[in-house]
Amino acid sequence: MAAPEPTAEQLDALLPQTQCTRCGYAGCLPYAEAMAAGSAELNRCPPGGAATIEQLARLLDTAPLPLNPDNGVEGPPLLAQINEEDCIGCAKCLPPCPVDAIVGARRQMHTVLAALCTGCELCVAPCPVDCIVMVPRTAVPQAPAAPTPDDNRARYTAHLAREQHRREAHAAKIAGAKARAGAAGGPS
Ligand code: SF4
Ligand code: SF4
Ligand code: SF4
Repeated sequence: MAAPEPTAEQLDALLPQTQCTRCGYAGCLPYAEAMAAGSAELNRCPPGGAATIEQLARLLDTAPLPLNPDNGVEGPPLLAQINEEDCIGCAKCLPPCPVDAIVGARRQMHTVLAALCTGCELCVAPCPVDCIVMVPRTAVPQAPAAPTPDDNRARYTAHLAREQHRREAHAAKIAGAKARAGAAGGPS
C-alpha cells in the first residue's frame, strides 16, 4: 500500500519560518499547503536552501531539485540593522514585520530586536529613507543566534492573532460609532 501523502503541517514543519514570501506565497504555511496540494514545486525556498529541499524531497518521496533561481539565492542567515542616525521614526517598517521584531514609536528612533529577527527583509522596502540594511548575522558582534523555526512560527502566529484582534476592535469601534450616530438621528 502506498504511503499517505504528507500533510501541509508535516511539510510546514520542515520550512524555516522566516515568512519572507520569497517562495511566492504569503508565508511558509501557504507554501506548504500548495506543495501538499501538488500545485507547487519543492524548490522555492531560498532561506531553507538545498538542505530544506532534501528534507522536503524525502518527505514527498521524490527527487530533489536545484533551488529555483526565480525565487532567489541561498545565503547565510541575515539580520536587519537600522541606521538609527537616519531613522525618521515614520514607523512604516513595523507592519510588515512578521514577528514584531522592530521597536519604536512614531517620531522616535526605531531599532531591531536581534533575537527575534528572522532575516525576512520585508522591512527594507517600506523604509522611505533606506536606513535598514540586511547583514549576515555572523557579521554582527554579539548578535544572538538566529531564532529557531519553532520560535519564528510561534511569534508569527502571535503576530497574526494580534493583527486579527486589532482588526476586530477597529470594526467594533466603527460599528459602535455608526450605531450611536443612527440613534442620534445622524447620517447612517
Ligand atoms: S522561509 Fe520564505 S521562502 Fe521559505 S517557505 Fe517560508 S516564506 Fe517561503
Ligand atoms: S526586522 Fe525586518 S528582517 Fe527582521 S523579521 Fe522584522 S521585517 Fe524581517
Ligand atoms: S521605516 Fe525607516 S525611517 Fe521609518 S521608522 Fe522604520 S527604520 Fe525608521
